[in-house]
Amino acid sequence: MSYSEKAIEYEFKDFQKRWPNMFKKVYCGFNLPRGWNTVVWKLCDRLESLGCEEPDVFQVAQVKEKFGGLRFYYGFDKEVDNETRASARTYVEFSESMSFYVCQTCGTTIDVCFTSDNAWYNTRCTPCRSQSKKYHISF
Ligand SMILES: [Zn+2]
Repeated sequence: MSYSEKAIEYEFKDFQKRWPNMFKKVYCGFNLPRGWNTVVWKLCDRLESLGCEEPDVFQVAQVKEKFGGLRFYYGFDKEVDNETRASARTYVEFSESMSFYVCQTCGTTIDVCFTSDNAWYNTRCTPCRSQSKKYHISF
């Protein structure tokens, strides 16, 4: 699978439908920039392969963007072995790192750069960055 394809238009309900147990009570919110849909979808696939979609094993707590990067918070509902726990952490950390190479708006990996605009951090490709500039108010 390539991250350079355009992001698939998943909605929260698509995640919930695909992984009803993992997304049963996302109590801190799901605010996923559209461009990272594929990154999180792939992550959930990997978590499922660890057994996280079994009933009452694993909960996604919150998904959001912070300081231009993906944040994926989760917890285990019951004790799992250390190997499963470590693998889940590795997959999540990998995806969070990966997000800095994927445009948060359109999902491309081409010409992506991390920028800070005053206090706003963004991971965007050049076309998306120039488009969003049009909507900024400038003095
Ligand atoms: Zn883009």
